[in-house]
Parts: sequence; C-alpha cells; structure tokens
Amino acid sequence: MSKYKRIVLKLSGEALAGNQGYGIDPEVIQSIAAQIKDVVKLGTEVAVVVGGGNIWRGMAGSAKGMDRATADYMGMLATVMNSLALQDRLEHNEVETRVQTSIEMRQVAEPYIRRKAIRHLEKKRVVLFAAGTGNPYFSTDTTAALRAAEIEADVILMAKNNVDGVYDADPSVDVNAKKYDELSYFDVLRDGLGVMDSTASTLCMDNDIPLLVFSIMEEGNIKKAVLGEDLGTIVRGNK
Ligand code: UDP
Repeated sequence: MSKYKRIVLKLSGEALAGNQGYGIDPEVIQSIAAQIKDVVKLGTEVAVVVGGGNIWRGMAGSAKGMDRATADYMGMLATVMNSLALQDRLEHNEVETRVQTSIEMRQVAEPYIRRKAIRHLEKKRVVLFAAGTGNPYFSTDTTAALRAAEIEADVILMAKNNVDGVYDADPSVDVNAKKYDELSYFDVLRDGLGVMDSTASTLCMDNDIPLLVFSIMEEGNIKKAVLGEDLGTIVRGNK
C-alpha cells in the first residue's frame, strides 16, 4: 500500500545523464520510467519535476559572463527537453502523461494550469512540470516545493544520483560523514546542509511539506520510498 496519495518526484537533470555526466542516457531514463510506472500501478498520483543541470545551468552561464536571466531561461528550456524525453519513455511504457510548462509553448506541451494538473492527477496521469517556475533566479527544487504546495502533495521525493541521504559532511570527501535519518527544515537552514537551496527549503518549511532525500541509483528505490520503507533522510517540521 502506498504511504502517500499524491507525490512530487524531483529528479535532478544529472540523474538522467547516468555515468556519462551530460545529456540523457537512454538506459537510465528507461529505468526511471519503469520505476515511475511501478509507482503509478500502486495507485499513487505522481507529479514529476525534472531539473536541467545535465544540459545547462544558469549559474554556470552567468559565471562565464552571460546575462543571468538569459542563462536561467536557457536552463528552464533544458528542463523542457528532459521532461519531453521522460514523457516519451513513460508513454513507451504505457503510462499516460501530460507535460505542463511554466513558459508557454503550446505546440510542445500544455501551459501550466493548476486545476488542470490536479484533474490529470486524479485520472492517474503522470504530470511533468517543465520550465521550472518560469522565473529566472529560481531552481527546480523551488519548483518542486511550489508545485507540491499548489497541488497539495503529501511529500516531495527527492531522488539523488550521487548520494543516498543527507549527511553532516560530504560523504565523497569525508569517510566519517554521518547520515541523518531525520531532520527539520530548521536544521537544514541553520547548518547550511546541502539538501536543496534555501528558497526551496523555506517554502517547504512554511507550508509543512515533508521531503524524502534518497538515492535513485538503486533500482526500485522510488517504489520503496512510496511504500514508506526505511530509506534516505526525511526532512520535515521547523524545530
Ligand atoms: N531555472 C530557473 N528558474 C526555475 C527553475 C530553473 O531559472 O524556476 C534554471 C536555472 O538556470 C537552473 C536551470 O534552470 O540552473 C536548471 O535547473 P536546476 O539547476 O534546478 O536543475 P538540476 O540541478 O535539478 O538538474
């Protein structure tokens, strides 16, 4: 039995790149699509926010002298490419989907309309929220938090490709780094833990949206997360 009625799954762009580090790895995206299908079969309503870091990051562009807002719009467009790729794989696996974009491109996808998104979810279609929030200076983590609040999702499942939870130090550098089982948003903000950016954390904290950080590298983990099995780090509350 699914622990949650409605979830927002946040996939970083890098999760789609697999070991190649750039672009979209066909095997990886197929594996993610199959895992999402398993969750849909449980009856869970699934919304997905995909990042764009495997193609373009606004900060990187602006560091090289590009206007930040322009670089961020490019990042948002990158998330549309990823969302279309995931939509393609999901449909290939016979999962009904809709992509909604925060920047209108009607030939490609529906514009984001909250009530329509909720209707799709009720009909058990997977809704992919693309083009971030539509605003530069934001991230797709913030998009996940915002959309989760808007559609009244029960949880944000943050699937990571390089770490299996939240640690007190970078586990790839410090062998003594300790993983937390549970944290509050206040802990995350106070200790500057690299879970998500502070805009996203604050939005989750203020709106009481729990967040589960876990690894997507092990196949089947998305389903385990939805079933409420013990994995990753849960972040909630403000104390
Ligand atoms: N972005 C933006 N506004 C948003 C969401 C994303 O400007 O609301 C841009 C920003 O430049 C960001 C890029 O899109 O660097 C890709 O998103 P993100 O870095 O969140 O992707 P991820 O790290 O999850 O792959």
